Amino acid sequence: MTDERAPGLVLHSPGGTRFHFDPGALCLELLPTGGPGPYARYEVLHRPADLAGWAGESRLGLPPGAVRITAGQLTAVRTLRDALWRLAAARAAHGAATGDAGDPADYAVLNRAAARPPLAPQIAPDGTAAPPLPGDGDQLASTVARDAIALFTGPWADRVRECGADNCRLLFVDTSRPGRRRWCSMERCGNRHKVRALRARREQHEE
Ligand SMILES: [Zn+2]
Repeated sequence: MTDERAPGLVLHSPGGTRFHFDPGALCLELLPTGGPGPYARYEVLHRPADLAGWAGESRLGLPPGAVRITAGQLTAVRTLRDALWRLAAARAAHGAATGDAGDPADYAVLNRAAARPPLAPQIAPDGTAAPPLPGDGDQLASTVARDAIALFTGPWADRVRECGADNCRLLFVDTSRPGRRRWCSMERCGNRHKVRALRARREQHEE
């Protein structure tokens, strides 16, 4: 389950537990790096090197040093991330069909980023996806923004969800066939729920 090569990120809970979290899409992998308002205290993208590190850990798998990022580009990526946070959270809360799918200003941020050239995707001789060609921070932002547009306009647009645990705000897209994914991660919130449910059953039994 903790296959390091599986898509997704290795995150640390406030208690220090490591867990694997695959939000199901590249654009959603950017969200746990910080965010708007109360999420600003989780900020990890302080320097350009932090963003390059994220690009390596994300499903892009960019090798170290493959992306040149200026301070201005880092700021633009953080602005894009905060817009994505609000847009994805609006989808999770209201669904795509209600028309209440986010603020036009956030869509403008997304479209501006997507208008630039993206990182050039590459394919390996065995037919699998290879890391994209090296590029800069604007290209990285464009790749993430285009991924978000594909997600929000694609077949999984109404499958963007928030983790079912009360104290967990992680957002993911449920691409499973049955569409019953509830947790950010079985290792973390899924297990905590199982343990609580088991304890509740036992207590009922003992009463
Ligand atoms: Zn969770």
